[in-house]
Amino acid sequence: MKIVGLTGGIGSGKSTVVRIFGDLGVHWVDADDVAREVVEPGTAGLAAIAEHFGRDILQADGALDRAALRQRVFENPEERNWLECLLHPVIREELVRQLKSPEVPNSQPYALLVSPLLLETDQHELVDRVVVVDVPEHIQIERTMARDDNSRVQVERIMAAQMARDERRSRADAVIDNNRPLQDVERQVCELHNRFLFEFR
Ligand code: ATP
Repeated sequence: MKIVGLTGGIGSGKSTVVRIFGDLGVHWVDADDVAREVVEPGTAGLAAIAEHFGRDILQADGALDRAALRQRVFENPEERNWLECLLHPVIREELVRQLKSPEVPNSQPYALLVSPLLLETDQHELVDRVVVVDVPEHIQIERTMARDDNSRVQVERIMAAQMARDERRSRADAVIDNNRPLQDVERQVCELHNRFLFEFR
């Protein structure tokens, strides 16, 4: 079973594109979902975070107070480092487990790992190919603002912390141009799927 990594900046269209692959019967795992799952109540991850930062980092219902955690690591790079050292290996292990054990048997020769930080973290070591979902920066900003009701400044701050568009594109085995009508994006996904079926046969 091969693993194809799908990445792109905020609002580039990763979720949109992966749904199209899903409709073709390709199993996929979203690293953002897994990152949330490993700190759900009852996990070793959440217990370690509560021990390190104190119980103030939890909400009244025992779930992680994400805003409080974001604030703590935003203010302090050492704390950010501590958190990344704790979570990155756990996330990676869970990603591998979910990629290998789809709920519905995967009849395709590959599965997709969707991750905004595929190239920024060691997650890229898990994949055989890198697909980048690409749109110009102004489209990223427009679409994210419309989707999340975020301000331009908020979106630009997140983009500044992510890899630059040119560097991401230079590391791609394939680029999906998502500055196109959805029908055209579907065509690009079908072509890429056929290419992978050929390459992984
Ligand atoms: P994030 O990294 O923030 O999770 P994402 O890369 O998964 O974002 P999507 O949520 O798929 O991005 O897309 C961002 C927004 O742009 C969504 O509201 C989506 O409906 C819209 N969108 C995606 N692709 C297109 C397209 N080809 N044409 C028009 N709108 C699109």
